[in-house]
Parts: sequence; C-alpha cells; structure tokens
Amino acid sequence: MSTRRYEHIFFDLDHTLWDFETNSKESLKDIFFEMDLLSFGVTDSASFISVYHHHNEIFWDRFRKGYITRDELRWKRMWRTLLDFKIMDESLARKISERYLDILPTKKNLFDDTVMILEYLREKNYVMHLITNGFEKTQHLKIRNSGIDHFFTHVITSENAGIMKPHKAIFDFALAKAGILSHQSLMVGDTLDADISGAISAGIDTAYFNPAVPATAEIQPTYTIENLAELKKFL
Ligand SMILES: [Mg+2]
Repeated sequence: MSTRRYEHIFFDLDHTLWDFETNSKESLKDIFFEMDLLSFGVTDSASFISVYHHHNEIFWDRFRKGYITRDELRWKRMWRTLLDFKIMDESLARKISERYLDILPTKKNLFDDTVMILEYLREKNYVMHLITNGFEKTQHLKIRNSGIDHFFTHVITSENAGIMKPHKAIFDFALAKAGILSHQSLMVGDTLDADISGAISAGIDTAYFNPAVPATAEIQPTYTIENLAELKKFL
C-alpha cells in the first residue's frame, strides 16, 4: 500500500495549464482582421483586445453571481466592447461573439512545463482530473486541440456539475466522481477564491500557482508555486 500523501491531482484549466490570455488575444486579433473591424470603427486590434478583456471580467462576475444567463454573457461582453468604440450593433456583437467562441478553443498555447509536468505525474501514477469553470463543449475542445486530453480521467466542468467553483459542491462532486477522499487529493489552480478557497472548504490540499497575486491571510494554500515544474518538489 502506498504511503504517499496524494493519489489524485485536480487541475484548473484556464490560466493554470491552458494559456487563456495568449489564446484569447490571438483569437481576438484574428477576428479583428478577418471581420475587418477597422471598417466598423474599432481603432486597432490592441485596443479591441484590452477593452474586451475589461468587459469580459465584469460580465463573468455577473454570470458567476447568477445575474445574467450564459447567452447574455456571451454576446453582451462583445456588445459592451463595441459600445466603447461608439458602435451600437447587436447583430455584429452576436456575430463576433460566435466567431470568438469558434476560434478560441482551437488555440493551443499552454503554460511552460505543462506537458512535462503532466507526463511526470503520469509516470508517477498520479490520477489526474480537471475542475474547470467553463462550458462543456469549449473546455473539451481546448484540451483536445492542445493535445493534453489523454492525461485526464475526469473533466469536471461547471456546466456538467451544475455548479461553479468556489462552491464546495463542485469539489465534492469531483471527489465522488473520482472515487477518492479529500485528504488524498491536491487541487492546483491560479485563482485564490475559485480554486484555493473552494478546495480548502472541501478539505482538499492546494497548490496555488499565480506568482503575480500573493495569497492572503484569510486564504492560505498548502503550497505556493511560481511555475508548474515546482510541483515536482512535493509530488
Ligand atoms: Mg484558472
């Protein structure tokens, strides 16, 4: 019988393994040129990208709190972006939004050491899963297109769990699905609230990967790492 601390490792996907920022920027840049947004009055691709990311944050926050639906999140963040360029065009916003959702999951940028660490953990017989706040179809496309889908036994999305991180219930759902106890599991993620605080509430140890934002006195991860390779120190 194994005496090691952890048997199952749960990973967050966006901003932890899959480089959301870079992939999103590439997608928006593609759209800017492909749909000729300059001709509609969007000044340049860099401004389009930064304005979109600003509004995306705000609308995701509203969606997480249950104030808006998934459909509203999807087109309104783009509609609000266009308004900043004085473009009032709901149909254009919906078209861009659809195109963005098509292109984004085809992007392949992963964080440094993602594949190396997943191979390392697989060789050491850790069972790996994802717990991600995202849409079922999109998240599956992302891991398939970036070539990491075969590493994960279970992919728990907030859509199939019916609840989002940081709620304890999605972690309990993940533990039940994996058939593992909380104290034999580790959650690796980049968001203090959603990943770390949520996992702690479910009794799961945590590795916090986000050197830009320090942990707080209220939320204390088990480990803090500056890059994914550091997981080797304790796994
Ligand atoms: Mg994340």
